[in-house]
Amino acid sequence: MKCPVCEEGNLVKKAVPYSVYGFELGKFPAKVCNKCNEQWFDEFTAKKIEDIEKRKGLFGLTKQSKISYSGNSLIVRIPNEIAKFMRLKKEASVSIHPEGKNKITIEL
Ligand SMILES: [Zn+2]
Repeated sequence: MKCPVCEEGNLVKKAVPYSVYGFELGKFPAKVCNKCNEQWFDEFTAKKIEDIEKRKGLFGLTKQSKISYSGNSLIVRIPNEIAKFMRLKKEASVSIHPEGKNKITIEL
């Protein structure tokens, strides 16, 4: 079967590692393009991965937030689901640094 993305490679069945937000969930069967490396999970596997994410509290943790002002500083509100998952507490000390041009990392 030809790859629908690059239209040159062939899709090969393989077990591929899958991680979300830096958490390894295991290896899962996928079809992988032998040219561009694009990968697809079938519906059953995608559901299985979603179930694992839900069990581990990782499902849907990408949230939207807005930058606003507090005095002379810019502030970003951390959505409650992420704060709970990370067990963040008020006054916790964190380290913040840019990572490339469109990402900011906050480390505990
Ligand atoms: Zn491809």
